[in-house]
Amino acid sequence: MLIDSHCHLNFNQFDPDRAEVVRRAVEEGVIGFINPSVDLQDSRQVVALATEMPTLYAAIGFHPNDAAKFNEEDLAELRDLATHPKVVAIGEIGLDYHWDSTPRPVQRHVFEQHLNLARELGKPVIIHQREAAADTMAMLRSWAGQHPKSKNLGVLHSFSGDVAMAEEAVALGFYLGISGPVTFKNARDLPAVVTMIPLNRLLGETDAPFLAPQPFRGKRNEPAHLRLIAEKIAALRHISFVEVSDTLLNNTISLFNLE
Ligand SMILES: [Zn+2]
Repeated sequence: MLIDSHCHLNFNQFDPDRAEVVRRAVEEGVIGFINPSVDLQDSRQVVALATEMPTLYAAIGFHPNDAAKFNEEDLAELRDLATHPKVVAIGEIGLDYHWDSTPRPVQRHVFEQHLNLARELGKPVIIHQREAAADTMAMLRSWAGQHPKSKNLGVLHSFSGDVAMAEEAVALGFYLGISGPVTFKNARDLPAVVTMIPLNRLLGETDAPFLAPQPFRGKRNEPAHLRLIAEKIAALRHISFVEVSDTLLNNTISLFNLE
């Protein structure tokens, strides 16, 4: 059994067949879903979906590509939404210098507001980072020391850094989210990261509808494909699928404090 630690089941790509997508996931052993948000409207929608779906949990906040929409007053509504029992994290938040759709100082300000909110609420964070590793790590480093939950701070979702960055993130108290690119031929540093970082610091995620693993690369992704990612981790580490799936499941339950 597995939990997809990062998927956007509320996105309109799943409007035509959401129930079917969930059914296929359950058939593949994917029994739960963590659904992060990208802005305030999305956060409301994800919390509403989590209220309807017993196996879906919500994370709330502004994605760096949507950071320009953030107002200081939105913090009050996020704080209010976070009191809902199905809200398990703040995310996805971070820095994205690839698209650069929002000025970098604005991204850093909004990221810091969310980090402070997570610390105030004692919730873990789901971090999105693209071509902004140095600034992201600098901000996480200064934040990590002041957080009440020292070993369960959050996850660097769809991790794409090298082994040195992975080791520092884990030492700070983060997990690494392993997604579809680990199955790609040009997986770069990911096979090394997956074999050298302790299994009890990895999470499995699809980031559906994005980042479909092989052999579905380029198509709409869905949580049922999480199994392919866990199989790849097992192959890279030369251990059984059951050991991988049990450990990933326990890691996800532990980080997000699920029942
Ligand atoms: Zn995402």
